[in-house]
Amino acid sequence: MKPLIIANWKSNPDSFSKAKELFSQIPKKENVIICPPNIYFSLGGNVNLGSQNCFFQSGAFTGEISPEMLKSLKINYVILGHSERRNYFEETNELISKKVKACLKENLKIILCVGEKKGESLSSVLKKQLSSFQKGVFAVAYEPVWAIGTGQACKSEEAEKALKLIKKKVNCKVLYGGSVNGSNFKDYLKVGFDGVLVGGASLKIKEFKKML
Ligand code: PEP
Repeated sequence: MKPLIIANWKSNPDSFSKAKELFSQIPKKENVIICPPNIYFSLGGNVNLGSQNCFFQSGAFTGEISPEMLKSLKINYVILGHSERRNYFEETNELISKKVKACLKENLKIILCVGEKKGESLSSVLKKQLSSFQKGVFAVAYEPVWAIGTGQACKSEEAEKALKLIKKKVNCKVLYGGSVNGSNFKDYLKVGFDGVLVGGASLKIKEFKKML
């Protein structure tokens, strides 16, 4: 099985034309999933697409996107519980659990993000955050918060400890995310991760292509 490479573009790039240009350089590969801002989905052609978030229902929830909407557009993947959602938008484990349940109902492939902040206990954070896990979740992404977007990736030996703890608790693919780049991504595969979740480096096409 080829390792999964999931690109999280976050709120980038800042224009439709730049998104078009970026998509035009990404070859379709079955193990590669691109999660752009939803407003750019139509540019994705036939690459595998994922959403960076979604709400748990349709209706009077201004600004939100529902699992049913994603399903109807054949967006098969969804990231839930990203640390930026938890920290900037105050998403709780309870809310994330509702989202997981609703996305499972639509058979979306969920990538559930977990990870500790600097100084927090890894095992207690995992215990709390993995309470949102339900049977059928496609992958858990271990993303230590202090490694995201900082250029300070977690050493693969350290990440391996988290991988083992996660594998003890849940049965699904486990990915690593946090300052992954074209040089270090193989280290995480070597210690047993099933793939990587890539933020910043997925916007630099040369860097991203090294992984592909
Ligand atoms: C992410 O956003 O999930 C992420 C891992 O970002 P970066 O690769 O930029 O650290």
